[in-house]
Amino acid sequence: MAKSDDFLSQAKRMGGLHFCPQTAEAWNEIAKILMRHCKTVEHASRVIDRFLSPGASEDFPTPGAVAQAARDTPADPKLDRPDLPAGCPDCEPYGGLWRDGKRGGVERCGCARGLKLSALDAIRAGSPELRKGGMRNAADFAKRAAGDCE
Ligand SMILES: [Zn+2]
Repeated sequence: MAKSDDFLSQAKRMGGLHFCPQTAEAWNEIAKILMRHCKTVEHASRVIDRFLSPGASEDFPTPGAVAQAARDTPADPKLDRPDLPAGCPDCEPYGGLWRDGKRGGVERCGCARGLKLSALDAIRAGSPELRKGGMRNAADFAKRAAGDCE
């Protein structure tokens, strides 16, 4: 079971950023946010990595930004920037995410990339959001993205 100290140690990795908290209370507040949004210390560690990666702001993030990053960082590292094979002519018009479905709409492709995405869908299937409309939203997004390139 992760202790609050472990989350505090993760927060303290940002101690080199500008405007970092000056009081123990302020540090504890950041640790609390991490604890609230991250299931594991490993997850919290990957959230903090975002603020320390090259190109990130040198200023200490606001509590809201920490919470947002925690929500945006998947708990499962496999979902974080997955390493995908190249798409095929069927799915490339959809940014490699989809192909035209047999019964209208779109579906995952049958190529290596599509199969890998299907496998990731299965991992994500725990999320009710995706089942409800995430797939359609993602397809719309892919279509818009593809349209921009034409
Ligand atoms: Zn394909």
